[in-house]
Amino acid sequence: MRVFSFLIVRDGETVKHYRIRQLDAGGYFIARKATFSTLTELVKHYSQSSDGLCVKLSKPCRKLEAPSTNGLSYDTVDHWEIERTSLKLLKKLGAGQFGEVWEGLWNNTTLVAIKTLKPGTMNKNDFLREAAIMKKLRHPKLIQLYAVCSLEEPIYIVTELMKNGSLLEYLQKDGGLKLKIPDLIDMAAQIAAGMAFLESQHYIHRDLAARNVLVGENNICKVADFGLARCFKVEKDKDPTDSDDVYQASEGAKFPVKWTAPEAINFCKFSIKSDVWSFGILLYELVTYGKMPYPGWTNFQTIQKIGSGYRMHQPPSCPIPLYNVMQQCWKDNPVERPTFETLQWTLEEFFETDPTSYSDANAFVR
Ligand code: AMP
Repeated sequence: MRVFSFLIVRDGETVKHYRIRQLDAGGYFIARKATFSTLTELVKHYSQSSDGLCVKLSKPCRKLEAPSTNGLSYDTVDHWEIERTSLKLLKKLGAGQFGEVWEGLWNNTTLVAIKTLKPGTMNKNDFLREAAIMKKLRHPKLIQLYAVCSLEEPIYIVTELMKNGSLLEYLQKDGGLKLKIPDLIDMAAQIAAGMAFLESQHYIHRDLAARNVLVGENNICKVADFGLARCFKVEKDKDPTDSDDVYQASEGAKFPVKWTAPEAINFCKFSIKSDVWSFGILLYELVTYGKMPYPGWTNFQTIQKIGSGYRMHQPPSCPIPLYNVMQQCWKDNPVERPTFETLQWTLEEFFETDPTSYSDANAFVR
């Protein structure tokens, strides 16, 4: 398994994440021209000279959220079902169509997020099968599933807590106002990193969108809710044609139509490549600070237009190379879409080819 670490650097209002890569023979580097046998040496080097980073390293930032992942996993009998009474619901953070999300305390010690699922929204067996896989997926850019309370309804899903909530809300509110194009691309690269890990594990998200990415301190982004979409049922007493803005019911499942690749909508062919299509839509959400894709169109109109070859135009503040990435993600033939690994590299190296382009890109502000 490839393990990625990031060097997070603050430069005034901007925060940048540099991926630290590992050499096969041992050692680390950010740019290939400077390799180091230890991380300490790497930090020392960039403390003496910026050498291509946005700024020279000065002092370490204060410790970020450090969820004690293992505490919840190993103290339990079957390793992931926990006592409902060990959780205290402290503050409601939000409500989605499938239930509520609370900030909570586990065993009076660990802050967690608790998702409470509306009874009947999920097929329990599907969920438990999916959750067993989700629990094994550990990566710094994926929201860690800690535990569940699934013996009775409402089902609780306990995960790590992210200070700034969903990316969609973050983009639309004050936090988003401060973000410039390099920040947005850096966030996109982090999301691609999380997705590249899912890709390497042959796992499909099925509902990748800004609403399902969470933001922590320093613009840290993590992909959430992977695999859950598969478990949601269409409510029996609801007319299947009755849809909300985002999720449309069809064939016993609900689709976030505007984020879903045509082959997934038309033939239920979900794959990591349909996730890549959704990632293209997510890039649109990022660069428009959380606008609804295909503005003004209904889900039905969107399906029709996409089918006849239409794709969204370049948003006004979007650099051409980034729009090119979106277009690659929206290739009709799934095979022609890039992998998440390629997307991650492309976005991480977005400003590396031309050292002056980093500062130029600051011109692309809202
Ligand atoms: P959801 O039901 O997943 O759409 O979540 C509803 C809202 O709860 C989201 O928009 C987030 O703002 C918030 N939320 C969900 N999960 C978390 C989490 N792990 N940490 C912090 N806030 C969260």
